[in-house]
Parts: sequence; C-alpha cells; structure tokens
Amino acid sequence: MYEYPQRIYMEQKQCQYYSVCPMKRFYERGKLDKKWIDRYCKGDYDNCVRRKMEESGKWHPDYMLPDGSIDHSLI
Ligand code: SF4
Repeated sequence: MYEYPQRIYMEQKQCQYYSVCPMKRFYERGKLDKKWIDRYCKGDYDNCVRRKMEESGKWHPDYMLPDGSIDHSLI
C-alpha cells in the first residue's frame, strides 16, 4: 500500500542532473571526494550552486564545485 509513495521519495533523493553532471564523472574517476556527492547530489541538491545556475541558464565551468568554489585540479 505504501510502496508507491516511498519509491517517489527515493527518486527525489538524487538530483535530477546527476547522470549528466561533471561532478558524477569526476567522482567516478576518483578526482572528487564522495562528500560532495553525499552532501549535494544525493542530499541537499536544492542548495547546489551548479544546479541553480543550470536552472537559470547561467554558464558555469565543469570544475566549479556544488558550493560555487572553483577547483582547478578537476580540469
Ligand atoms: S553537482 Fe549539483 S547539479 Fe550536479 S548533480 Fe550534484 S546537486 Fe545536481
């Protein structure tokens, strides 16, 4: 009976851009600490600066972290 709403909840616990986001790619290559994925992509994604800029159509570099800081080591 409660299976359907729970499934919806689980789906919402990950940012909708995760599959195409550079952060996923950097993480899978071992260049990005898991804390970023846990904190933003699979957590508080509403406060991700990358996500906000994506949704407002503002350009941002692939090496910009979810908090808006720049990490040149990701290049
Ligand atoms: S970095 Fe931001 S935009 Fe990218 S998947 Fe994570 S929460 Fe979404």
